[in-house]
Amino acid sequence: MNLDFSPEDQAFRAEIRAWMRDNVPLQEGPSIGIPSHRETQFAWERKLGAKGWLAYTWTKEYGGPGWTATQRYIFDTERALAGAPSSSPFGLSMLGPVLMHYGNEAQKRRYLPPIARGEEFWCQGYSEPAAGSDLAGLKTRATREADHYLVNGQKIWTTQAHWANFMFCLVRTNPDVPKQQGISFLLIDMSTPGIEIRPITTIDGHHHLNEVFLTNVRVPAENLVGEEGNGWTLAKYLLTHERTSIAGVADSYYQLGRLREAVDADPVLVRDPAVARRLAALEVDLIALEYTNLRTLDRVSKGQPPGSESSGLKIKGTELQQAISEAQMELGGLSALPWLSAGEDVDPAFAGATQRYNFLRASSIYGGTNEIQKNVLAKLLLQL
Ligand SMILES: Cc1cc2nc3c(=O)[nH]c(=O)nc-3n(C[C@H](O)[C@H](O)[C@H](O)COP(=O)(O)OP(=O)(O)OC[C@H]3O[C@@H](n4cnc5c(N)ncnc54)[C@H](O)[C@@H]3O)c2cc1C
Repeated sequence: MNLDFSPEDQAFRAEIRAWMRDNVPLQEGPSIGIPSHRETQFAWERKLGAKGWLAYTWTKEYGGPGWTATQRYIFDTERALAGAPSSSPFGLSMLGPVLMHYGNEAQKRRYLPPIARGEEFWCQGYSEPAAGSDLAGLKTRATREADHYLVNGQKIWTTQAHWANFMFCLVRTNPDVPKQQGISFLLIDMSTPGIEIRPITTIDGHHHLNEVFLTNVRVPAENLVGEEGNGWTLAKYLLTHERTSIAGVADSYYQLGRLREAVDADPVLVRDPAVARRLAALEVDLIALEYTNLRTLDRVSKGQPPGSESSGLKIKGTELQQAISEAQMELGGLSALPWLSAGEDVDPAFAGATQRYNFLRASSIYGGTNEIQKNVLAKLLLQL
């Protein structure tokens, strides 16, 4: 993270750094890689929203600050280095770009401003029990009846559905055409009768995930985004944005920095050449990832889509998150045990390391598994 910034960008960085220092909330418990305390997360997002910085990748037209790619990069870096939580991506970096590109004016006016202010929270209804990697095989059925759709089916692995006001959802509107052509993209109010949310507790011991059952859920026809049957195009557009943000470079710098400080403060670890080699290898990989990410951000800032490189970012970014969390857990030793908390002879630098390690096993699965990303790269970049 040693890029040369112009004097204006240096002043911008100083402003963000000072604001973060004064405003970052105290975390309730160690960071485990995903927001796990609803009120802290909501309050933080609303605070950023009030400042106009929550939708920091958006243009002014849609309620963002209209920053340059460099400013966005600086903001994200300073946010992570201050130990601040990242914002939920569902409204900001997934639905937002889709609505800006494919939504009609009424949809943009209704849904984008509350996302930018942190007032409405979204979840992603893509996966189903038999449709994950083979997403186009989804079966949740939406039948058009007069001025609404009647939706029946089941979604699974729906992150924070129990926090969400709305879900953007892929549904099958036509079962009689090739599977990609019969899918539509609907916006569903989570308070609609017929929606049942059942929690799934994961190996990190938290409840982030859910099953969502939809039984005769009435969704106004005006909540269709784009054309009926064109949902697959929107779904793919959204996924490339999801994969770019999954790279998590700034947060990996923060975690690796914490690990290095902890190692430097430990008289045994700091003299171990194997530990030094391990940290150096992680740092080199992270710098390489950062430069690849910057190239993609540059394309996006010129109005081009992130493209297939986002699959490479997703693979490498999540592998690194896993490798850093593994090093934190292994080097932390007893301090990383999940049933000990800070204060019980636990080095706080390693608190939560095992939950983090366990949660991040999922990072090579969510957003499309890394095996599937390799297939995408093979097809699009290598023409295989
Ligand atoms: C923590 C977490 C949060 C998630 N949040 C959400 C969410 O908010 N909303 C949502 O809609 N979904 C969410 N998901 C679901 C996620 O997108 C799916 O789990 C993912 O797409 C994989 O689908 P699957 O679980 O059905 O596995 P499968 O598709 O059944 O895959 C099983 C294994 O087979 C491999 N495989 C499958 N097909 C191929 C192939 N063609 N070539 C090579 N290997 C293959 C996969 O890589 C994987 O290792 C989340 C998942 C997790 C773990």
